[in-house]
Amino acid sequence: MMDIRAGFGYDSHRLEEGRKLIIGGVEIPYHKGPIAHSDGDALMHAICDALLGAAGLQDIGTQFPDNDLQYKNMDSKILLSKTKELLLQHRWRINNMDATVVLEAPKLAPFKEKIKETLAELLAINNSRIAIKAKTNEKMGDVGSGNGIVVFAVVTLVREY
Ligand code: MG
Repeated sequence: MMDIRAGFGYDSHRLEEGRKLIIGGVEIPYHKGPIAHSDGDALMHAICDALLGAAGLQDIGTQFPDNDLQYKNMDSKILLSKTKELLLQHRWRINNMDATVVLEAPKLAPFKEKIKETLAELLAINNSRIAIKAKTNEKMGDVGSGNGIVVFAVVTLVREY
Protein backbone atom coordinates (compact mmCIF):
# COMPACT_ATOMS: atom_id res chain seq x y z
CA MET A 1 0.00 0.00 0.00
CA MET A 2 1.18 3.48 -0.77
CA ASP A 3 0.20 6.84 0.71
CA ILE A 4 0.88 9.84 -1.53
CA ARG A 5 0.48 13.45 -0.37
CA ALA A 6 0.75 16.77 -2.19
CA GLY A 7 1.87 19.97 -0.45
CA PHE A 8 1.80 23.58 -1.52
CA GLY A 9 4.00 26.43 -0.26
CA TYR A 10 4.16 30.15 -0.90
CA ASP A 11 6.53 32.87 0.25
CA SER A 12 7.23 36.46 -0.63
CA HIS A 13 9.69 39.13 0.41
CA ARG A 14 10.08 42.80 -0.33
CA LEU A 15 13.41 43.66 -2.00
CA GLU A 16 15.66 46.55 -1.02
CA GLU A 17 18.95 48.04 -2.24
CA GLY A 18 22.15 46.69 -0.72
CA ARG A 19 20.92 43.34 0.59
CA LYS A 20 22.15 39.89 -0.42
CA LEU A 21 19.93 38.00 -2.85
CA ILE A 22 19.94 34.31 -1.87
CA ILE A 23 17.63 31.95 -3.78
CA GLY A 24 17.65 28.23 -3.10
CA GLY A 25 20.84 28.59 -1.07
CA VAL A 26 22.71 30.25 -3.95
CA GLU A 27 23.91 33.84 -3.67
CA ILE A 28 23.00 35.73 -6.84
CA PRO A 29 24.93 38.90 -7.70
CA TYR A 30 22.41 41.77 -7.73
CA HIS A 31 22.05 45.23 -6.20
CA LYS A 32 18.86 44.33 -4.31
CA GLY A 33 17.85 41.61 -1.88
CA PRO A 34 15.05 40.65 0.52
CA ILE A 35 14.19 42.49 3.71
CA ALA A 36 13.99 39.69 6.29
CA HIS A 37 15.12 38.62 9.77
CA SER A 38 16.60 35.50 8.21
CA ASP A 39 18.54 35.28 4.95
CA GLY A 40 15.15 35.82 3.24
CA ASP A 41 15.50 32.77 1.00
CA ALA A 42 11.92 32.73 -0.29
CA LEU A 43 12.45 29.57 -2.36
CA MET A 44 13.67 27.57 0.65
CA HIS A 45 10.82 28.94 2.78
CA ALA A 46 8.18 28.01 0.21
CA ILE A 47 9.66 24.51 -0.15
CA CYS A 48 9.74 24.01 3.65
CA ASP A 49 6.06 25.01 3.85
CA ALA A 50 5.13 22.69 0.98
CA LEU A 51 6.96 19.75 2.61
CA LEU A 52 5.55 20.39 6.08
CA GLY A 53 2.05 20.91 4.68
CA ALA A 54 2.16 17.66 2.71
CA ALA A 55 3.27 15.77 5.82
CA GLY A 56 0.51 17.31 7.96
CA LEU A 57 3.18 19.02 10.10
CA GLN A 58 1.78 22.57 9.90
CA ASP A 59 4.23 25.16 8.59
CA ILE A 60 7.62 26.76 8.97
CA GLY A 61 6.39 29.34 11.51
CA THR A 62 4.97 26.60 13.76
CA GLN A 63 7.98 24.27 13.52
CA PHE A 64 10.67 26.95 13.71
CA PRO A 65 9.15 30.04 15.37
CA ASP A 66 11.28 33.12 14.76
CA ASN A 67 10.55 34.35 18.30
CA ASP A 68 12.50 31.26 19.45
CA LEU A 69 16.11 32.49 19.68
CA GLN A 70 17.56 29.24 18.30
CA TYR A 71 15.73 29.85 14.99
CA LYS A 72 16.15 33.60 14.73
CA ASN A 73 18.34 34.52 11.72
CA MET A 74 18.89 30.84 10.99
CA ASP A 75 20.39 29.94 7.63
CA SER A 76 17.49 28.66 5.50
CA LYS A 77 19.63 25.69 4.41
CA ILE A 78 19.53 24.51 8.02
CA LEU A 79 15.73 24.99 8.14
CA LEU A 80 15.36 22.86 5.01
CA SER A 81 17.65 20.14 6.43
CA LYS A 82 15.68 20.14 9.67
CA THR A 83 12.45 19.89 7.68
CA LYS A 84 13.84 16.90 5.76
CA GLU A 85 14.81 15.23 9.07
CA LEU A 86 11.26 15.75 10.40
CA LEU A 87 9.83 14.09 7.30
CA LEU A 88 12.19 11.14 7.69
CA GLN A 89 11.12 10.74 11.31
CA HIS A 90 7.54 10.56 10.07
CA ARG A 91 8.57 8.05 7.37
CA TRP A 92 7.86 10.36 4.42
CA ARG A 93 9.97 10.14 1.30
CA ILE A 94 10.16 13.18 -1.00
CA ASN A 95 8.96 12.12 -4.42
CA ASN A 96 9.28 15.38 -6.31
CA MET A 97 9.36 19.14 -5.94
CA ASP A 98 8.38 21.83 -8.42
CA ALA A 99 8.75 25.56 -7.83
CA THR A 100 8.17 28.82 -9.67
CA VAL A 101 10.15 31.91 -8.69
CA VAL A 102 8.55 35.20 -9.75
CA LEU A 103 11.18 37.91 -9.99
CA GLU A 104 11.49 40.76 -12.48
CA ALA A 105 15.30 40.76 -12.42
CA PRO A 106 17.95 39.38 -12.52
CA LYS A 107 17.58 36.40 -14.86
CA LEU A 108 17.82 33.14 -12.91
CA ALA A 109 18.65 30.89 -15.85
CA PRO A 110 22.44 30.90 -15.20
CA PHE A 111 21.86 29.82 -11.58
CA LYS A 112 19.12 27.21 -11.97
CA GLU A 113 21.40 24.18 -12.12
CA LYS A 114 23.35 25.30 -9.06
CA ILE A 115 20.07 25.88 -7.18
CA LYS A 116 18.81 22.42 -8.16
CA GLU A 117 22.09 20.82 -7.06
CA THR A 118 21.96 22.63 -3.72
CA LEU A 119 18.36 21.56 -3.07
CA ALA A 120 19.00 17.98 -4.22
CA GLU A 121 21.91 17.68 -1.82
CA LEU A 122 20.01 19.15 1.15
CA LEU A 123 16.96 16.98 0.50
CA ALA A 124 19.03 13.90 -0.40
CA ILE A 125 17.08 13.29 -3.62
CA ASN A 126 18.13 13.08 -7.25
CA ASN A 127 18.02 16.47 -8.99
CA SER A 128 15.80 14.94 -11.70
CA ARG A 129 13.06 15.11 -9.03
CA ILE A 130 13.45 18.89 -8.72
CA ALA A 131 12.17 21.56 -11.10
CA ILE A 132 12.82 25.29 -10.79
CA LYS A 133 11.09 27.71 -13.11
CA ALA A 134 11.63 31.45 -13.23
CA LYS A 135 9.06 33.97 -14.43
CA THR A 136 8.77 37.72 -14.44
CA ASN A 137 5.50 39.37 -13.41
CA GLU A 138 5.30 41.17 -16.79
CA LYS A 139 5.97 44.53 -15.05
CA MET A 140 2.65 44.30 -13.15
CA GLY A 141 2.44 45.46 -9.53
CA ASP A 142 5.23 45.61 -6.92
CA VAL A 143 6.84 42.36 -8.04
CA GLY A 144 6.74 43.64 -11.61
CA SER A 145 8.45 46.86 -10.50
CA GLY A 146 11.33 44.80 -9.12
CA ASN A 147 10.43 45.49 -5.49
CA GLY A 148 9.55 41.96 -4.48
CA ILE A 149 10.06 38.25 -4.95
CA VAL A 150 7.29 35.63 -4.85
CA VAL A 151 7.73 31.85 -4.85
CA PHE A 152 5.23 29.02 -5.30
CA ALA A 153 6.26 25.44 -4.56
CA VAL A 154 4.54 22.08 -4.88
CA VAL A 155 5.84 18.78 -3.55
CA THR A 156 4.66 15.19 -3.38
CA LEU A 157 5.57 12.81 -0.58
CA VAL A 158 5.28 9.04 -0.52
CA ARG A 159 5.01 6.69 2.43
CA GLU A 160 5.34 3.00 1.79
CA TYR A 161 3.93 0.32 4.05
MG1 MG B 1 10.29 33.98 4.00
